[in-house]
Amino acid sequence: MKDHAQIYKRLNEYFGDLHWWPAETNDEILIGSILTQNTSWKNVEKAILTLKEENLLSLPAIAGANEEAIALRIWSSGFFRQKGSRIKSIAATIVDQYGSIDAMQSLTTQDLADFFGGLKGIGQETLDSILLYVFNRPVMVIDSYTRRIISRLDYPEEAGDAEIREKALSDLMHSVGTLKNYHACLVELGKRFCRKSPECAGCPLNSDCNYAMVLSSP
Ligand code: SF4
Repeated sequence: MKDHAQIYKRLNEYFGDLHWWPAETNDEILIGSILTQNTSWKNVEKAILTLKEENLLSLPAIAGANEEAIALRIWSSGFFRQKGSRIKSIAATIVDQYGSIDAMQSLTTQDLADFFGGLKGIGQETLDSILLYVFNRPVMVIDSYTRRIISRLDYPEEAGDAEIREKALSDLMHSVGTLKNYHACLVELGKRFCRKSPECAGCPLNSDCNYAMVLSSP
């Protein structure tokens, strides 16, 4: 597998610091991590803005709000009834059990993973995003963009999520700041260049990509 530090160096030179996750509070990141499931960030932004305008962008406010009222304000994010019910339930559980996100910051990463992993509506990718962006824990977030890019760089080798996660953490020396921007850069690369049908010509990783080499060979 390619060296993630080298991949990140090129991505960072090209994209710079993408300042991900864009939010003013940890509550906002947590709520956004649920809203962004199965939809584009553009749709999430509208929902976040509406929640902010209605003073509903905090866990205590969501926990105390009517489920229907939440759902109507997040309709742009899709699956709004299901997501509304989930963020209310998650917010209420956190407020009941811990009081706030701040009060949870002293928990171990394993305890956080056990807690959030046990809540309805939080799969592996959402859990990893919460650990990295809300709790600043060294975690490699693996999504479909990451899998596609890594599998093309290493083509025809195929690594599983656990292998990618372990090597990325080791290559990037468990640096939380680097892991945050690395994930953001991979998503950006996946949207702009490494699409289903890749645009390798302008891609900042093309000089060291096995798949690009195969595509360009006669
Ligand atoms: S060179 Fe092409 S296949 Fe390789 S990462 Fe870039 S866009 Fe994807």
